[in-house]
Amino acid sequence: MPNLEQNSDTFLQQLDDLMLPASLEEAFEAYRFDLLRKVCESQNENQLSWYLHEINQLHADAEPAPSFSETFDPFLRLHHGTSHCPPSTLIVLPPLPSTIVRGGIILPSALLGIVEGDIFALGSRLEMYEEAEVNMLARIATAALVDQRDFSDRKSAIEYIATNASQKLKQSLLSDQSFWSSVPRRQVEFPDMVSERRKQLASCDLFNPPLSENELECFADEEIREQTRDIRVMALSPKIRHLSFCRSCLNKFARWQTDLARFHQLAENSSSGRYNA
Ligand SMILES: [Zn+2]
Repeated sequence: MPNLEQNSDTFLQQLDDLMLPASLEEAFEAYRFDLLRKVCESQNENQLSWYLHEINQLHADAEPAPSFSETFDPFLRLHHGTSHCPPSTLIVLPPLPSTIVRGGIILPSALLGIVEGDIFALGSRLEMYEEAEVNMLARIATAALVDQRDFSDRKSAIEYIATNASQKLKQSLLSDQSFWSSVPRRQVEFPDMVSERRKQLASCDLFNPPLSENELECFADEEIREQTRDIRVMALSPKIRHLSFCRSCLNKFARWQTDLARFHQLAENSSSGRYNA
């Protein structure tokens, strides 16, 4: 059980960060959020808010992005189907806007104008920033985009940040389906996040007593069928705590409960029909 003295919101937040991924998208997002957290942990909250504010000011007429993970979105809001794939360690993503712009792909002059305008605007806003601060913002962008890019100078870092944060550029690119079907995708390999999360759960101090090997393993289908039969059976399961951090098992339990309720309803309808006949 969780330590009772812990604030439940904090506990849930920490638990959210350790959830076992149930799909390829969740596995990749778990890796991306870990990278982003690691880069951001050296900065204080005010500094991070200020960086985000500077980027949001580039799109003052749009809804401000609430976080770096949304500002620098590697999925580009394209339908990618990875939420239905099982977790793995390789994902295929749209190319980054900065790769498109730098890669010699011919863009309409209106789009190039948007990119140049955003780069100029960000450069002006960051004029008073130290070199190290611009580098930090670029590192936040590469972490959020799960990109390996390094920057040799301030100019290339600002170009990268502005291009990948540009909402107008993304919207214009996304509206052209024929363009997207012709550009090469990028492949990203990343660690096995299911196994990583299991290790982190085993050693975290959220549970007292610590989780056992058995509790870290997913429920077999037969176990789920048996335990959804009666909530008392489920409550007494020696590995009930598994459900607090495994979305995949939670979903399976929910599906079985729905199926069971439907079955009972059908049985009831059929027996009342018989008596009414
Ligand atoms: Zn599970």
